[in-house]
Amino acid sequence: MGMMNIRHTPDTDPCFTPPHCPNQHCPFHMPEVPGWQWRPKGIYTRRSDQRSFRRFRCLHCSRTFSTRTFCSDYWLRKRDLLPKIADIASNGAGLRQIARHYHVAHSTVARLIARGGRHCLLFHKAETKNMKIAEPIAFDGFETFEYSQFFPFHINVAAGRDSWFLYELTDSPLRRKGRMTPGQRRRRTELEAELGRPDPKAIELGTATLLWSLLEKIPIDQQAVLESDEHPAYPRAIRRVVREAEKVKRKVSTIIHRTISSRAARTRDNPLFAINLADLLFRHSHANHRRETIAFSKRRMAAISRAQVFRVWRNWVKRRKENGDDTTAAMAVGVARGRLGWDDVFRCRLFPVHAELAEFECRYYASEVFTATLGKRQQVHKLRMAF
Ligand SMILES: [Zn+2]
Repeated sequence: MGMMNIRHTPDTDPCFTPPHCPNQHCPFHMPEVPGWQWRPKGIYTRRSDQRSFRRFRCLHCSRTFSTRTFCSDYWLRKRDLLPKIADIASNGAGLRQIARHYHVAHSTVARLIARGGRHCLLFHKAETKNMKIAEPIAFDGFETFEYSQFFPFHINVAAGRDSWFLYELTDSPLRRKGRMTPGQRRRRTELEAELGRPDPKAIELGTATLLWSLLEKIPIDQQAVLESDEHPAYPRAIRRVVREAEKVKRKVSTIIHRTISSRAARTRDNPLFAINLADLLFRHSHANHRRETIAFSKRRMAAISRAQVFRVWRNWVKRRKENGDDTTAAMAVGVARGRLGWDDVFRCRLFPVHAELAEFECRYYASEVFTATLGKRQQVHKLRMAF
């Protein structure tokens, strides 16, 4: 009774065998390389809770490791917090609220969300590896800011028109525009003199990166139907992608770009419904994007981490329709058979070398997205070896 539903993590599964060597410099780090040999190497008992774990040794590089090495919470002291924080962060709590709720420092929460973001990026990549897109795609820039309102940026999002699946996201740092007091205008000039002006082509570039990545999943004998609002940077982004493809001699689908006026009613019949809904949910479920609060992101990188968590939540964890059945967007596009919980998402550790990350995804994984005003003292995530 119930026993059949127990899903193990590598460290609780008595039958677990290591799928590959965890040492990223070992030729047997890639999964399913024939000829890999390893030996059991006793057990170790963790001091904090006296739990024991099986250890192994790679016979090629001599690295020793354990069942813990393959868990997504390896090295973490607060081990059960990762799925819990992904969950609570997706339900509208700000960093300090989460910290108070779990009696931990808010810097711990920030670190766990960053780690959750990295895991979610790899999770999305692994689960959509062989996916083929067979529906029109809506895309748009989600407007938010980092540090202060002087540093707005877009999170560019692409969603399936029918499935509502969130396929891709990139970022574009922007210049502050719109109504400003004379004082604000002066401040902007000062800041730009000190930090430089954001690239005026940021939306074009961020969108081109987004579309380039999308086109990899659209079979070339199929048209790529793209739908967006009338932002002038979008046709330029499409032309840039086509030019780039010609330059590197990559075959891509014929692109059909349809624009929809942003004045059109934002109803379910609007072709951009999927993107409008994602926008709404993102603002609703992540406190850093809610207007007129103090929960905004201090760093763009932190917002990107949360966006990675949001994407997995939207696609795999959340029901597609709140009042419908248990179908998720991932099930609608055929990359999942059932709805997942956060414990499922975080069941196993994922390794970046396995993921074939694109260049922009490498920057996200390594936290190499810098907030101009914070200068050089910004933490990046160094790829450390497992043990
Ligand atoms: Zn090895």
